[in-house]
Formats: sequence, structure tokens, C-alpha cells
Amino acid sequence: MLLNELVLRVASRLGLGYIPFTLPVHMEVELSNKCNLACAMCPRPSMKRKVGTMSFEVFKKVMDQTRNSITLLWLHLFGEPLLTPELLLKAIDYSKKRGVKEVAASTNAMLLTGGIAKKLLTSKMDRLLICIDGATKKTHEALRKGSDYDVVVRNVKRFFELKKRLKNDSLTVVLQIIKLEVNKDEIEAYFEQWKTYDCEIHVKQCSDWSKQIEGRGVLLPFQQPEDYPVCQRPWMDLSILWDGRVSICCRDVNGIAIIGNINKDPLKKVWNSKKMRLIRKFIYEGKLENISICKNCDDWMVSDERLK
Ligand code: SF4
Repeated sequence: MLLNELVLRVASRLGLGYIPFTLPVHMEVELSNKCNLACAMCPRPSMKRKVGTMSFEVFKKVMDQTRNSITLLWLHLFGEPLLTPELLLKAIDYSKKRGVKEVAASTNAMLLTGGIAKKLLTSKMDRLLICIDGATKKTHEALRKGSDYDVVVRNVKRFFELKKRLKNDSLTVVLQIIKLEVNKDEIEAYFEQWKTYDCEIHVKQCSDWSKQIEGRGVLLPFQQPEDYPVCQRPWMDLSILWDGRVSICCRDVNGIAIIGNINKDPLKKVWNSKKMRLIRKFIYEGKLENISICKNCDDWMVSDERLK
């Protein structure tokens, strides 16, 4: 574990607001908030923010300030990264040059054609999360509205073939199913279907995104674990929206928890800003009702089960 990460974990346990000599270790950078689907378990279909794409200059500005602190960088937030493939490839390359340990992105695989698959497999990307949410066409398409299950399966199988052919052992592929009311009985079939491929298989619990997907009828009841520690994200993580605004959390679909703007504020200053210190204080004291994005949130308590 990097020293920076260790310091931040200790700081979260002690509830420190100001954490000198540090920067976040995890970051989500939204290359674009365009998406080709409208999934039932995602708050993006009701997003009120303007849709746009980050300029590579802004991306570089973020990464140039990270000073080897980032252990995990997600190159997406509320968008499908394969809608901006050239920007994605440039961002992967630049982040590795800036010392990011693990560069990752998530895709719905609708646009994972042979061409982009080859480029990703010859890039320095470390992790690709592929979201398939059922073991049948009917279930997957009912949840991932706008998706075509046959196209997704064909793309993903071709990706695995190419991975083998190109002898790529450095990219970890994670196939993820979000466990919901509609697909909960298909988990076993899903595992059987994909277990022989070169991937991890994860089952993710779904939160209600701070009540942002309320009323869609897809969620399973969620039991809050007893004695769970406070949310650690404000001590570890920052999210950068496509327009350069910095949010305290990756749950912030509408940009309601903004603490700065990378176009004018240095990253380090935002990280220890007055607003950020106050947020850490409220979270440590359990006063989530004082933070609009956090007050209804159970996301920090949901877990991810790895089947393979
Ligand atoms: S409590 Fe929820 S919304 Fe707030 S920082 Fe943690 S995960 Fe994000």
C-alpha cells in the first residue's frame, strides 16, 4: 500500500478533516456523460446536467497534479467511455505516464467492436469492467434499456478470443452482474455461462443511489450491516465531472456536491478546502443529513461478491 493511502486510511479512522501532504488515491474522471443506454438501475436517465465531453487539455490538467498519488483511476462516471474511444485511449496512455497504478473503465459492451477491442488490448489499461445483467436476452434487455444482448455477447466473446490471441495477461476483465429483483434467479446460470473465460465474475449489490432511482421497482431489500464504519470516500476519493467541476462523490449524478473546479482551483487546494473539511467532519460525526448527496445514501455499505 502506498504511504499516501495508508495516511488517508488512518485519517479516516481518526476523522481528520485536514490531511496535509496528501492527495486522493482513487479518482473517477468523467471523459463524457454521454450514454447509449438508459438502464433501470442507473440514475443517469434522469440526469439534469448538461451533456458534454471533457477536453484532453482538462484531462491533462487533472493528471498533471496527481503526483503519483492515484492507485485506482476510473475513466468514466455517468457515461459510456466507448462513445469517446480516441479520448479513452489517450487518457489511458497519459494516466500511465503520470504514474497511475491501475487504470480502469466500465463498459456496457455494445460498442466493443473488434477494432476498439484490439486497441484496448494493446494499450496499458489494467482493468475493464463489462456489465451484463442477466443470463438471458429477456432479462438483460429489460434492465439495460437500449442494449442488444446478442451484440453484447458476441462482442464480449470476441474480446476474450482477441485477448488470448494477443497474449494479453495484464488486463483484468471483470464481468459484473448487478443483483436485482428481475435477475436474482439467473446468477447461477450467469456463472455457468462465463466461468471458462479469462475473467473475474462479480455480483454487485445495488443501492438506490441516494433515492435517485426510487420507484423503478428493480431493487432488492437492503439490510444495513451492524457496526459498519463511516463512509471513507471523502478521505480517499474525488470525482471530476467532464466540465472540470470536482464533486465529493461518484454518486453525484446531478453535480449537487461540488467543491471546486479544476479549471481554476488546484487539485491539492480542493482536496483540503473548507468545504471538503466540513464534509469529512459531518460524515465522521454521522451527520449525513447536513450533506445533500449523502443524506439518503446507503451506497457506502453495499458490497461486491466475487464468484471467480
Ligand atoms: S455517504 Fe454516500 S454520497 Fe456521501 S460520500 Fe459516502 S458514498 Fe458518497
